[in-house]
Amino acid sequence: MNLSNKETAKRRKRSPQINVSRVRTPPYIIDSSELQRFNQKNIIFRRVMWDSSWEGYQRKYDEKVKDLVTREVPGYSRVDFAMAYASWIVHDAFKGGFSWTRIETYKSQVGTVGIDWAKTKFQVQDPCEMSKQVKQAASLFGASLVGICKLKRDWVYANVEIPETLENVIVMAVKMDADGIATSPKVPAATSTGVGYSRMAATLACTGEFIRNLGYRAIQCGNDTALSIPLAIDAGLGELGRNGLLITPEYGSRVRICKVITDLPLAPDKPIEFGVKEFCKTCKSCSRHCEVDAISFDEEPSFKTVSKSNNPGALKWYVDPGKCYLFWCENGIDCSTCIKVCPYNKT
Ligand code: SF4
Ligand code: SF4
Repeated sequence: MNLSNKETAKRRKRSPQINVSRVRTPPYIIDSSELQRFNQKNIIFRRVMWDSSWEGYQRKYDEKVKDLVTREVPGYSRVDFAMAYASWIVHDAFKGGFSWTRIETYKSQVGTVGIDWAKTKFQVQDPCEMSKQVKQAASLFGASLVGICKLKRDWVYANVEIPETLENVIVMAVKMDADGIATSPKVPAATSTGVGYSRMAATLACTGEFIRNLGYRAIQCGNDTALSIPLAIDAGLGELGRNGLLITPEYGSRVRICKVITDLPLAPDKPIEFGVKEFCKTCKSCSRHCEVDAISFDEEPSFKTVSKSNNPGALKWYVDPGKCYLFWCENGIDCSTCIKVCPYNKT
């Protein structure tokens, strides 16, 4: 931890009480006249490529790296960047992690002669029991948290079609290294993020393949295909924070989220509530520590969006991903400060 004693004491004082209740409906308020399926072209990384009306157009967030390394800025050394880039390699190189179909190399490795398990469906007698087994498997494959929900089509990206028969989602959260995140915005924090993405690829691949071996379909997704945060809330993994991220009782926002959409019969979990919205109203630690004021200071959440990259129709504190991205460009790498300083991020 790089926090001063004063800051550590302040965070302790503001520590939230966590009493988790299971609830019937997810803890968010939607204006269905405003809500639309989000168009992936408005994700900030896509807008970099096409939105010439925005100052981040065609800016790359590694554009300052050479300068930072040359100036020998602490926390931005050649070794730090070498490690951060290495942490992404499994995510970037292993396309099977995000496969919608059987991973090609599987057939050559299968040890059961004469049986193609994917061609016959395992008869699920009890969806609750099946859910337990899927959760055990996903945990074994690397998920820190697992929840199951029905697929709300509102959360699927506007340009993606998921067949109606695939109605269940296994949502998994992979925790990120606390000591690394504590260094944000320095480069080791980004290494923790990269490791999270690489672990996500492995966890997804194994979980998806397990389901295909039972004869069902599995669509493995990282940030693609559908909005991860509302699905994680639906699946009972946490609530939405002022920082625009999922807050889990176990790790705060210090998680990466991934999901498998499937037709395997499963029993959904109930969403949870533990007072995040009320706590966020007065905490504002993320707003104060964000170096570019990308996070709202408003007392109350609202329906007012602040960026083309926001999806309207939810009552929340809208974060400005454009300001955030521009900070990453100045910083030479991504930032996790709003995860680090959140009192729900137990270290
Ligand atoms: S990641 Fe960093 S720049 Fe972006 S909103 Fe969070 S604190 Fe602000
Ligand atoms: S740091 Fe932000 S997200 Fe976390 S509890 Fe405080 S206001 Fe909410």
